[in-house]
Amino acid sequence: MEEKNTVINDTLTCNNCGALLHFAPGTTQLRCDYCGTANDIAPAVPTEIRSFDYLEFIQTDGLPSTDTVVAAVVQCDNCGANTTLSTGVTSDTCGFCGSPLVIAKVRHERLLKPHYVLPFLLDGREAEQLFFRWLGKRWFAPNALIKNVKQIHRDHFKGTYLPHWAYDTETTTTYSGQCGIYYWENESYTTTENGRTVHRTRQVRHTRWHAASGQVHCSFKDILVLASHSLSRKVADRLEPWQLERLQPFDERYLSGFRAETYAVDARAGLALAKQKMQSTIEMTVRQDIGGDEQHIEQQQSDYADIRLKYNLLPIWISAFTFKGKIYQIAINASTGEVIGERPYSIAKIILAIVFGIILLAICFILLQGV
Ligand SMILES: [Zn+2]
Ligand SMILES: [Zn+2]
Repeated sequence: MEEKNTVINDTLTCNNCGALLHFAPGTTQLRCDYCGTANDIAPAVPTEIRSFDYLEFIQTDGLPSTDTVVAAVVQCDNCGANTTLSTGVTSDTCGFCGSPLVIAKVRHERLLKPHYVLPFLLDGREAEQLFFRWLGKRWFAPNALIKNVKQIHRDHFKGTYLPHWAYDTETTTTYSGQCGIYYWENESYTTTENGRTVHRTRQVRHTRWHAASGQVHCSFKDILVLASHSLSRKVADRLEPWQLERLQPFDERYLSGFRAETYAVDARAGLALAKQKMQSTIEMTVRQDIGGDEQHIEQQQSDYADIRLKYNLLPIWISAFTFKGKIYQIAINASTGEVIGERPYSIAKIILAIVFGIILLAICFILLQGV
């Protein structure tokens, strides 16, 4: 089998000096670090971004086809992330957990070619600035952590393309349940006032329930599912929204100088996760359809029609640090600059803030008593 590395390619060397070129974030150019030559990634006539039929896609998924690329992949011994490496890299650490990667274990794999790539808009320096601004606002982070993390150098942030599935579908949901409508009734009661028993009336809220059933339709577009396990799904969801209008047809030149993670969640498993993401919208639509003041949904059955998908690579700057034996990840959306980080909390600082708040309240109370 003829093996070709996706990253090292004839088109990725400088026309002028022959050095390796890197994609320059925020541009459509490959740049040479040595002589400064910029080679434009021929911006093809803007192509319409489209989705592909899901059923057709899963039938051919994994089979040898022309829509594959061969990439040099290295697996992290610690967290299992499979990433392609930047060109010319001889030693490196895993962006997802910070462990050293064993470059000698690089293997060449035939992978499904992504449909689209969202090129990096922010470079490493901008990512680092965003990170420090974010860190400055973390009030309850332990001091030891802040000191530790401030030593994070730009090189600790790894520019990585994350694999994502994006699903479109039309849903039809048949449901049955109950619609609750409030009504008020006067109720008399007795109570004791100044040692005497008195009769009073008050308004009490009741709910009248009646059966409700029907059918609702929802239209979903670009429901994103992270197609790997390396980044916490919670962090990945919070990195949304992405500027998907900037997607470009996949071109390996956008990967030059960056890593790309290979997908570990296939299109079928991804669809199951997408359905979970769509469920809250479907349920809200059902509740609106039932109407009234309160709703019970007893049964619901959804049909997903015209499922379409895209396989996208989305750009993040990722770094991980270990604090007291636990791994924390910080991810920056490299198209919007959104910083999403996990971090430990300092119990001491939180207790201090609460105690301070109580003292402040006590002082206010004493002052008010004095008036
Ligand atoms: Zn050059
Ligand atoms: Zn790792």
